[in-house]
Amino acid sequence: MNKYYTSTRNGSVQISAKQAIKKGFADDKGLFVYPDLEKLQVNFEKLLKLNYQDIARAVLTILLPDFSADEIDESVHAAYQSSFDTQKITPVVPVDNFHILELFHGPTSAFKDVGLQLLPQLMKHVLVDNNKVMILTATSGDTGKAALEGFKGLDNMGIIVFYPDGGVSKIQKLQMITTGGNNTKVAAIEGNFDDAQTNVKRIFNDQALKKSLGDDVSLSSANSINIGRLIPQVVYYFDSYKQLVNDGSIEVGQKVNFTVPTGNFGDVLAGYYAKMLGLPVNKFVVACNENNVLANFFNHGVYDRNRPFFQTVAPSMDIQISSNFERLLYYKSGQDTEYVKQLMDDLEDSGKYEVSKEVLANIQQDFYCGYSTDDDIERSIAEVYEQNGYLMDPHTAAGYKVMRDYQKLDPETPMILLSTASPYKFVNAVANAVLPETSADVQQVMRDLHDATNAPIPDNLRKVWDLPVRHESVIQKDQMTDYVKQKVEEVFYDQDQGTRN
Ligand SMILES: *Cc1c(COP(=O)(O)O)cnc(C)c1O
Repeated sequence: MNKYYTSTRNGSVQISAKQAIKKGFADDKGLFVYPDLEKLQVNFEKLLKLNYQDIARAVLTILLPDFSADEIDESVHAAYQSSFDTQKITPVVPVDNFHILELFHGPTSAFKDVGLQLLPQLMKHVLVDNNKVMILTATSGDTGKAALEGFKGLDNMGIIVFYPDGGVSKIQKLQMITTGGNNTKVAAIEGNFDDAQTNVKRIFNDQALKKSLGDDVSLSSANSINIGRLIPQVVYYFDSYKQLVNDGSIEVGQKVNFTVPTGNFGDVLAGYYAKMLGLPVNKFVVACNENNVLANFFNHGVYDRNRPFFQTVAPSMDIQISSNFERLLYYKSGQDTEYVKQLMDDLEDSGKYEVSKEVLANIQQDFYCGYSTDDDIERSIAEVYEQNGYLMDPHTAAGYKVMRDYQKLDPETPMILLSTASPYKFVNAVANAVLPETSADVQQVMRDLHDATNAPIPDNLRKVWDLPVRHESVIQKDQMTDYVKQKVEEVFYDQDQGTRN
């Protein structure tokens, strides 16, 4: 049996899971994929008897073949033992005639915690000989804080997060700048998210900088294309199915549908991995916001990013290139890496590509796609709250309307809607939908929303207002390289000697 990952753009690449986690993406810029996933069938009836952590162990054992049982055990335990506010980790709740899979019970109240609590623990077992890794992340909001929490306090690892000054919400900013730990660094960039992102990419390719950091320090990223972030997300698809079996909502073996609010296509792709591994799924309903490049693709087979970019009330889905879609093209083209490379070259050259009718039909067999406007999102939040007393965040709500459209075609199959953030994380959009008026003070909006709805405020969001601010740096774009140098020094060397401060 094959035990190696390959590249979506070059099938002759062979790389272990550990090296794939360390590198992030392939030298040919392709993404690491596991060939022939269908042949790895898990015994899913056995999984239905396990708790979340044991399902995670089973899934990781299959998809990370060069990790030892002890390494997987330790990683899963450290990631999920006490950082989520429920033993179930990702509980399913019934709403009307569908089910909501709540993915926001982690330390930062967004679904990225599921991947970013585990990735650093896996990274621990990838580092050898006291080597060190500094994680660099440009964030437009959710990823930064989730990554900070995941890497906080870990030996031989540090993390630097750059966010656009004025480009993230008040709550997101507070979450980041109050982060504890000696190995966490956060700086605002005078510029927008693209400036931060472009410069982080440039730093990754800065050979002079790498040399100056020395042989034992490498730079890495916590981006969602890393398999160490993707694979943990496969787990909750199995676990949610188990929950529905256990509460009598479905029979073992019965097919279900999942609706997934989508940005970079990582979350929904993890679901497709679960299906390839044997989970009985009929359709994945993919939901976009007004940045609906994917929804257009599903109509014609043309992926075209040459179009205006919209800032929406669901900012974590404001994306024009869904990076992980490349992995789906790999599987749906029959693992034809030359074909995928051609499409990706087209995308780079002209901002678009077109797939064959056959590939499009293969994709449509498993996926349906639609989108929600900001108006749709607000209406959905209000509707579900008024009719069912359930408060959705704007990303989840973007999924809701597309789910209802799809259910007109297929009303019978049980449906699970993935909820990717706590409503309190995007409290202004939610309050606008359900409260008659909203305060200009965000903390007050949070209290008002709680008073009106009784929906519990997650601890971390309730307490964030009172935490001391620990990261106040605001720097220019052209200071980022120096900032990295300085922080590598501080995190890995000054503390060893215990001289500073
Ligand atoms: C990141 C994010 C998404 C999109 O997930 P992808 O894996 O990028 O498709 C949706 N909702 C929220 C709240 C997010 O943070």
